[in-house]
Amino acid sequence: MTAEIISGTEIAKQTRARLAEEVKELKEKGVHPGLVIILVGDSPASLSYIKGKQKASEEIGVHFKLERFPESMTEEELLKVIGSYNENPVFHGILVQLPLPAQISETAVIEKISPEKDVDGFHPVNLGRMLTGQKAFLSCTPAGILEMLRIKGIDPSGKHAVVVGRSNIVGKPAGQLLLRENATVTYCHSKTGNLSEITKQADILIAAAGKENLITGKDIKPGAVVIDVGMNRNSQGKLCGDVAFDEAMEVASFLTPVPGGVGPMTITMLAQNTVEAARNTLLETGSQ
Ligand code: NDP
Repeated sequence: MTAEIISGTEIAKQTRARLAEEVKELKEKGVHPGLVIILVGDSPASLSYIKGKQKASEEIGVHFKLERFPESMTEEELLKVIGSYNENPVFHGILVQLPLPAQISETAVIEKISPEKDVDGFHPVNLGRMLTGQKAFLSCTPAGILEMLRIKGIDPSGKHAVVVGRSNIVGKPAGQLLLRENATVTYCHSKTGNLSEITKQADILIAAAGKENLITGKDIKPGAVVIDVGMNRNSQGKLCGDVAFDEAMEVASFLTPVPGGVGPMTITMLAQNTVEAARNTLLETGSQ
């Protein structure tokens, strides 16, 4: 068997074309979606992620602003900045680029962002709304995964989904969204003793551990759908996922590549959340 590659790049392109239309409509109604990204420090990795987010935002017509602060910024100063953007009607989405310097608590920062502008979907209110099946901003990576499955006609209902990784921003919400779609979900993590035995039972396998070659061909059930979230650098400095790609191609039915899989979808879901946040302001004022 040779797996079909799910091109996140291609799906993201289609989704962005639709979002560009939605932005045009919103602008005609007097709302120009705006996104501000706040960066503390000058990490090259963060800057490179932000560049991708800026490109996607601008491509669909979202007003984008990058606000930069020195590494020495205090938590109090950052919370004040977030507070002012919470009140600023020009920006419907606020994203604070993680990781933050050690003197600033990520939890405090995430909780300071208004849940209505939390386009990353990290605020406990949005996570709680998602858990309880209410309307919420979904974390971008899990939302991107679900969107890829939907577009490819892969219905998680009744399937065994195994999620390797349990972070608050990827693993946990990915499993919850699959549960919402009626999958039977198993979580694995660094303390899981018999990883391969469990991954081999997965109809849908989500690899989100951040470990190169964690999932090899023998860890995959023949015909499984494999979504590789990992973003690692191999010994040659090349970007790679958690899944041994060539081996997985021989066993899986569908496989996402790295790069060109989950990454472009994550960025696109951020743009989608920003458009939704802007649309919500129209609904609030009743001018829809
Ligand atoms: P974290 O480091 O926060 O979480 C990693 C998770 O994997 C943890 O739950 C950890 O377990 C688990 N894990 C680590 N090693 C193993 C192992 N050997 N076996 C089983 N489980 C293991 O990472 P994130 O969730 O933030 O990200 C995961 C990966 O996805 C990273 O490579 C990251 O770069 C990538 N990523 C990609 C995105 C994209 O757009 N493509 C977006 C976000 C992340 P434990 O909880 O026990 O420590």
